[in-house]
Amino acid sequence: MVEAVDVHKRFGSLEVLKGINLTVEQGQVACLLGPSGSGKSTFLRCINHLEKIEAGTIRVAGDTVGYAERGGRLHELRETEVAAQRRRVGMVFQRFNLFPHMTALENVAEAPVQVLGRSKSDTRRRALELLDEVGLSNKADVYPSALSGGQQQRVAIARALAMEPELMLFDEPTSALDPELVGEVLDVMRRLAESGMTMIVVTHEIGFAREVGDVAVFMDDGVIVETGDPQEVLVDPSEERTQSFLSKVL
Ligand code: ATP
Ligand code: MG
Repeated sequence: MVEAVDVHKRFGSLEVLKGINLTVEQGQVACLLGPSGSGKSTFLRCINHLEKIEAGTIRVAGDTVGYAERGGRLHELRETEVAAQRRRVGMVFQRFNLFPHMTALENVAEAPVQVLGRSKSDTRRRALELLDEVGLSNKADVYPSALSGGQQQRVAIARALAMEPELMLFDEPTSALDPELVGEVLDVMRRLAESGMTMIVVTHEIGFAREVGDVAVFMDDGVIVETGDPQEVLVDPSEERTQSFLSKVL
């Protein structure tokens, strides 16, 4: 479903991704861990072409992100084509960034109507179902300011799912939450994983990564240091850098 081959990304003179190779199969959950500044967010943003890579390729569901092959050569896609690719990928960030002037329901229903041109009544029905799936059917008409951080993040997940993505990217979705609200968001993500969604999750929630992850990926300084079964990588890592990182976050 996602295939990154020798991905390089630099900001000016700073090389942030130094040859990332990663394959995530359909239905798998890959958990990405690593120290601050190691390039985790940048890599996620590259998968969505929010950042352009200088070398290598990223394919999502068979399509090269940001480029099309014509006549054996890669051509950069137009903005509209990039937007069409992005629609297939849902993204949830650390900060919930819901639209503050819209209710929970309106937040979830906005894009399918505006972007996909779906009918308002169908979208509303689906949005209510999605809010129910994230445990918030009773909050449909509430504005974000009246929701807890965990509730806002669950609305953000429902909003991403409303676009019927084939892949979901999560960038530290629980790290801005009060500890008592982390579990409710992880539960929603766990159910999503069980439903078969392909997910790449940047998280330092080691328990989640061990229980829900199919693969754990440890990044440091722009490279993948270690990747494999979470029970091995996160319990008994073979690389010293992974061991030292885990001893700090556990
Ligand atoms: P954290 O755990 O703190 O979120 P991260 O692993 O997600 O860290 P990135 O945000 O990907 O790390 O950043 C990797 C490096 O790239 C950092 O040194 C950062 O300062 C740099 N960087 C990220 N975005 C930009 C940008 N737009 N311009 C310049 N440098 C950037
Ligand atoms: Mg980050």
